[in-house]
Amino acid sequence: MPKVESSASERRSSRIKTFTRLPGPSLIAMQLFNKGFHAFNAKSAINGDGGGETTSVTLSLYDLDDDLADSWEGNTDKKHGCGHAEMDALAQYVATGNNTFENMVLSCTTKPCCVRCSAVLGLLGIEACDRTLKYSKPMGSTEWGISDSVAKAVANHIGRDDVSYLDIKDFGGLTLK
Ligand SMILES: [Zn+2]
Repeated sequence: MPKVESSASERRSSRIKTFTRLPGPSLIAMQLFNKGFHAFNAKSAINGDGGGETTSVTLSLYDLDDDLADSWEGNTDKKHGCGHAEMDALAQYVATGNNTFENMVLSCTTKPCCVRCSAVLGLLGIEACDRTLKYSKPMGSTEWGISDSVAKAVANHIGRDDVSYLDIKDFGGLTLK
């Protein structure tokens, strides 16, 4: 039996599906970016700088008795595409195979967390320790990046069908509106 030719409209819709992701950050990315930044419970910094070119942060996991269970030190990373120390710490954590982010606290005391790291941390519900600040603008001489594995963990944590890990990767091109 000969294969039935697909109609012109079917061909068109399959072509459109291939190209639904337009260049530039998605609307969903912008919404999540704003939401995440405001959700991150660090106090706001007035100035963004104050540290050198590199930073280190500590991501700590607490158990149900509020005792420290484990911690990961993140550093400014120019090799693995993680960029900022916060994203490096998250990449290490995700690499352990864990995919929950409850009872986690981030400590970054040499300079404020930039707007992009703050947005990711806020979406994950990771808390800021007392002396950790957030800044409403991108900053640092190191380009911001997030690994695929961390972006997928964030999208998974949000748990919405309309959110892709690519929306989280879009944060690299966003500033707060
Ligand atoms: Zn950052």
